[in-house]
Amino acid sequence: MRLSKAYWQTIKEVPADAEVVSHQLLIRAGFISKTAAGIYSYLPMAVRVLQKIKTIIREELEAIDAQEVSMGFVTPGSLWKKSGRWETMGPLMLKCKDRKDNDYCLSATNEETITDIIDKTITSYKQLPINLFQVNTKFRDEIRPRFGIMRGREFLMKDGYTFHVDKECMSKSYSDYYKAYENIFTRMGLEFIAVEADGGAIADADAQTHEFQVIADNGEDIIVEVSAENLAMNIEKAQTKRLDLKFSYDDKIEDVLTENLPTCEEVAKFLTIGVHQTLKSIVINSDNNFYMVMLLGDDSLNEVKLSNHLKQEWRFASDTELLSLGLVKGYMGPQNVDFQVLFDSAIDMKASYIVGANKENYHQKGFVPLIIENSKTVDLRLAKEEDISVNGNPIKFRKGIEVGHIFELGDKYTKSMNVTVLDNNGKKVNPLMGCYGIGVSRLVAAAIEQSHDENGIIWPKTIAPYDVYFAIIAKSDETKKVCDDIYKSLQEAGLDVVYDDRGMGFGAMLKDADLLGLPVRVLLGERDFNKTGEVEIKVRKTGETIAATPQNLCVKLKEILEKL
Ligand code: ATP
Ligand code: MG
Repeated sequence: MRLSKAYWQTIKEVPADAEVVSHQLLIRAGFISKTAAGIYSYLPMAVRVLQKIKTIIREELEAIDAQEVSMGFVTPGSLWKKSGRWETMGPLMLKCKDRKDNDYCLSATNEETITDIIDKTITSYKQLPINLFQVNTKFRDEIRPRFGIMRGREFLMKDGYTFHVDKECMSKSYSDYYKAYENIFTRMGLEFIAVEADGGAIADADAQTHEFQVIADNGEDIIVEVSAENLAMNIEKAQTKRLDLKFSYDDKIEDVLTENLPTCEEVAKFLTIGVHQTLKSIVINSDNNFYMVMLLGDDSLNEVKLSNHLKQEWRFASDTELLSLGLVKGYMGPQNVDFQVLFDSAIDMKASYIVGANKENYHQKGFVPLIIENSKTVDLRLAKEEDISVNGNPIKFRKGIEVGHIFELGDKYTKSMNVTVLDNNGKKVNPLMGCYGIGVSRLVAAAIEQSHDENGIIWPKTIAPYDVYFAIIAKSDETKKVCDDIYKSLQEAGLDVVYDDRGMGFGAMLKDADLLGLPVRVLLGERDFNKTGEVEIKVRKTGETIAATPQNLCVKLKEILEKL
């Protein structure tokens, strides 16, 4: 591509809303343009990166016998009502009506559509398994779209779906996809890790599911890694143990004055005890039922675990609700409440703790959880970095960007949407299903988070928009002709080349080249070339420079690219 004829604009100013480096660089290097909050246009350079990612994905999925389809972006509400997700997806889904007042929504994911396709075409186990995927646009009205295309509202997803007559076949596909994902992210040059995950709104809480996380400081996810057990879990799912907790037992029950000390930390400090010897009381409302959640004073609630336990939506009780229940904020306890109390499993039910006394400015000493009759013990705490694994091994926290997620869905959708096939005994059964997502546009940002420096992007060679940046300083027609010939020879050798023939200043041109971050840059400066007959190759990643002549340039470039 000759830059003199191309649309490619770099930008000096970092946009004010660009908090993370990938967002800043994608805007500055002319890859994306913001259209609205969380909605971006992909400019020509980005389209090339996306194409390369899509090609890698297609090759690896076709290798596991997946076939590409393309489903509608607008989906009828009737399908979502059938599966029950018209309501449960909540405000994440952008809904609209057509001129006949029918409900529609923009695809947030496509389980409903694919299940409908299968329903209309498949009748027998003999037609299974089926393995289909697509790469297309999704829309999720995220509460906080941020970090550019990392968490957009409109984004590109690869979604794959498989259908099976039995569990064994479903598990085989799951492991095929697992391996294909490992190949895809390895080919993209990413450092990633597969972690045990939560099913979220897509699957049941106990379904087998893994996320593929790209390791990055700006990742929104926390990964709990137990190297000794070859195990990694998303913190949403992670169960860990606290280290060496010492509780006291048989303390006398008495109310203690704790004036203006509403937090566990303050109370513990005042009474000179460990914060873990106090209990935190949290009241929540789920479908108009109240629950009190109890945690050790220095633990915090894992909201995903609570959702999974309740199997329905919940929210924190409002101040008015607390008042109506006779509870005093900052001084609450589970004594005498007439709803269920959920004790976190890190709590020793026989130990004695300090809890709120249910009266202003007082806490109660000597509270023993065992006395609460209407209670349950559930794992509800959020893992902490200083914890150990359930088996007692050290753990480590890492930050990740979720770029892929695979699920064994079982019959969740085929059952709710009433899809059946005949099995080999002629009996009607709900086929089993797997689904497999990749955040295609998010991957572009994730790759940059992992690979950049203060001057710009450093693209992994397999997804770089072009292979070579050919920068020239040429005044005379003779040198311009040499440059044009080199450009042609590079193209003929099968290299994708950005030919910077804009005739701009040396400094600005090389800044643009670094910002764009192609794997190698070739520089032909007229003065040096006339003296030596050589051009300079520079490797973006290492800064290494290598001299070449127009005659051996292609061979050298290929050698360098091969090794990168
Ligand atoms: P997250 O936890 O990041 O919100 P999710 O678990 O809701 O993601 P999935 O339903 O598993 O996402 O979707 C499959 C893939 O699509 C994710 O692994 C992620 O890479 C990508 N993805 C999801 N939401 C977004 C978004 N808002 N912007 C860009 N990519 C996204
Ligand atoms: Mg996910």
